[in-house]
Amino acid sequence: MHWADVVAEKLVEKKDKHVLATAITPSGPIHVGNLREVMTTEAIYRALKDRGIKAELIYIGDTFDPLRKLYPFLPSHYEKYVGMPLAEIPCPCNEHKNYAEHFLQPFLESLKELGIKPEVYLAHELYKEGKYNEAIKIALDKANEIREILEKIAKRDLPPNWMPFNVKCENCNRLEGEIVEYEYPYAKYKCKSCKFEGEIDLRKGGIGKLPWRIDWPARWKIFGVTFEAFGKDHAAAGSSWDTGKEISKKIYNYEPPMPLVYEFIHLKGKGAMHGSTGVAVAANEVLKMLPAEVLRFLFMKYEPSRHIEFDTGFGLLDLVDEYDKYERIYFGLEKEIAGMKDVKRVYELSQPYKVPKSKPFNIPYRHLAVVAQIGRNFDEVVEILSRKYDLKDVDLERLKERYEKVLYWLKNYAPEEIKFELQREKPDVELEEEEKNFLRKLKEHFEKIEWDAEKIHTAIHETAKEMRMKAGKAFSTIYKIFLKKERGPRAGYFLQSLGREFVLKRIKEFI
Ligand SMILES: [Zn+2]
Ligand SMILES: [Zn+2]
Repeated sequence: MHWADVVAEKLVEKKDKHVLATAITPSGPIHVGNLREVMTTEAIYRALKDRGIKAELIYIGDTFDPLRKLYPFLPSHYEKYVGMPLAEIPCPCNEHKNYAEHFLQPFLESLKELGIKPEVYLAHELYKEGKYNEAIKIALDKANEIREILEKIAKRDLPPNWMPFNVKCENCNRLEGEIVEYEYPYAKYKCKSCKFEGEIDLRKGGIGKLPWRIDWPARWKIFGVTFEAFGKDHAAAGSSWDTGKEISKKIYNYEPPMPLVYEFIHLKGKGAMHGSTGVAVAANEVLKMLPAEVLRFLFMKYEPSRHIEFDTGFGLLDLVDEYDKYERIYFGLEKEIAGMKDVKRVYELSQPYKVPKSKPFNIPYRHLAVVAQIGRNFDEVVEILSRKYDLKDVDLERLKERYEKVLYWLKNYAPEEIKFELQREKPDVELEEEEKNFLRKLKEHFEKIEWDAEKIHTAIHETAKEMRMKAGKAFSTIYKIFLKKERGPRAGYFLQSLGREFVLKRIKEFI
């Protein structure tokens, strides 16, 4: 059974109605690693729905969190905003309502493209609307018990007068006010940052925030959360999950949700993705080079506990090839190979929206990457492809989407080896006599064979053999006259895409 179904079955045993929560702090670009949380949860949500279970998928944007530091991607004048809530800091590009929105908006758009439609809540609004008021009162009334939990489980060393609430200082707007005197509904505080002293009425919303370790269990109760997935950083001994469970049970009298710990995503050659270190690719950026179904596939295929290495180089081509293979198997055009698991379910869960009724027409990415560099625009690409494929009933919109994504990848991420520039006019290169002889012979073959990648490839090999020329040299001769370089894409498919007429004309110019 697919992992999402396994989790769904466990949930069904416990209850017949579920709230699945996800949350990400929009303090920087929301990257592919973050997506794992949402994507994992959404797969389980779908599995519940497929079983006819009532389920809700919620996403809480932690927009009331303070800016923790001046991240490397921020201009230096943002130093002054450190400590302020993300929703109250200006957006870096001037086009969004605030800082949080700046990073949240592209992420939410990506979710839409991925077919993920959670109920979105923003923490700063929840606080302002008073949704947390009761949880805040309980936390302050039971401050001692919370402190004991944090000291025992998280080995925190907290002062005896510690209070689980960060007041938003009325003077400097930082979430750094510490409560010094409390008698519900009032509290006096002193700001750690600017030393301002003030008083707040706790019945008013948005005047401060529960620290993360208390905020998390508080929201489980507020929303009735029954399932939550989180990264392993939250799951280590003494982590926020460990204290959260205790606080949920003992302070809020609420059974904690079923947890699921997922592994981080690593960026090939760079390590675990972290928004704050810059080792990351934003989710919306990945969708510019990868079809949504393929990005979903990456997460659906592996169990959440499996480490995933995301590669924006050649690995991207392999990933698309693998997806295409699953698709062919799903539609019965190819047989499963040993070791493949839950192929049909993985394919279904990879679809952002409806599962297609018949196999969509797809050009392998590695071929499209070649054709996209030969054709000067989409129309030319269609023309090249139509020499090989019957495009009569093909969804050209879909093809165009893949084409544009391949182009973006070529421009921004593709390894140099795969890039080339077709020489549309005869390039200025000198050939040795041996190379010219090879081309003369090759021309004879090329005039006769069927114009197909395989056959072209074989013809090159055989001609080289006939002429007692090394295969490597034979191929580089070809690349020189078409690309003005010694290496290039797989010659068979490349020449086939150029078309026989163009190929013969170019050879004639050199012999
Ligand atoms: Zn902005
Ligand atoms: Zn202050």
